[in-house]
Amino acid sequence: MATRRHDNGAVFDHGAQYFTVRDQRFQNCVDSWQHAGLVQRWTGRIVSLHDHNTEQDKSSTARFVACPVMNAICRHLAENLDVRTNTRVAPPSRCQGKWLVSDETGSELGEFDLVIVSAPGPQAGELLRGSAHLARLASSVKIAGCWALLVHFHARIDVDFDGAFVQDSPLSWIARNSSKPGRNPDTETWILHASGDWTQSHLEQPPEAIHERLLDAFWDATGVGAVPPSYVVAHRWRYALPTEPLPDRYLFDGDLQIGACGDWCSGPRVEGAFLSGAAMAGRVLASMDHVDCEV
Ligand SMILES: Cc1cc2nc3c(=O)[nH]c(=O)nc-3n(C[C@H](O)[C@H](O)[C@H](O)COP(=O)(O)OP(=O)(O)OC[C@H]3O[C@@H](n4cnc5c(N)ncnc54)[C@H](O)[C@@H]3O)c2cc1C
Repeated sequence: MATRRHDNGAVFDHGAQYFTVRDQRFQNCVDSWQHAGLVQRWTGRIVSLHDHNTEQDKSSTARFVACPVMNAICRHLAENLDVRTNTRVAPPSRCQGKWLVSDETGSELGEFDLVIVSAPGPQAGELLRGSAHLARLASSVKIAGCWALLVHFHARIDVDFDGAFVQDSPLSWIARNSSKPGRNPDTETWILHASGDWTQSHLEQPPEAIHERLLDAFWDATGVGAVPPSYVVAHRWRYALPTEPLPDRYLFDGDLQIGACGDWCSGPRVEGAFLSGAAMAGRVLASMDHVDCEV
């Protein structure tokens, strides 16, 4: 659930585009976020584009976005927590019944009774080295990448939709980011997502090589005459969509007091990540039952 801001005021939600709700537990939380103004329903017109034909999306799926930007939910959840950003954690090591956690430069971050890893499966596999069984499971998860193009135009792009699933194209999804509630509607910002297959075959290309290919695909899919963007940048998501998530909601080694969760456990997408985290939290609280603590 990522957001990037450009100096010219343009704002891009370049990761998750929106989220859907199926599970009542997530629904309850989304209701409270909606009540607090943190989440709104995105009622933009969504279509499917195929060979220059436009087909209205007929599903009645409610699509939600965080406001004013997608990472607002993460910021909200992180309030009052001790969060260290821009810190790459190294695999923790076990010492006298505790976990020692350091960053990749070797600086110590602390000594802990219990560790939860919430990085994507393959990265979690590295961090879970202390528990061979969990490391093996996490490393086995396959996650497809996604090249994202963040584009700002000076003028409105003349199409009659706000988001489109694109067929038979290097692109799989395009959206007018500024059409989402809480964004500045006068700023013409677009997010283009490449398909999993296209991303896979261009994963190691430099970002500049990606710009032109995906912009060409955009003009081709929309049928609009090309205009130069005022700003464009490509972002590579190496781990975007788990293709075969694990059947478990979370992983936990009770002997070693280390666990893992994320959208690669039982359900890809935002709702799956939420449910995995909540289930992991439940397991940890249960394991602390014997500890004299207030929760
Ligand atoms: C391009 C794209 C489009 C998407 N579209 C949608 C959508 O429309 N709808 C939807 O529901 N979902 C969508 N998703 C999926 C959704 O974003 C994820 O399901 C959700 O964000 C997963 O949350 P998570 O907490 O499990 O993992 P992540 O959001 O991947 O968070 C893991 C975090 O761990 C950090 N990390 C990794 N290794 C380390 C380390 N060693 N030290 C410190 N930190 C580390 C990473 O930097 C990252 O911040 C999309 C994802 C992408 C990438």
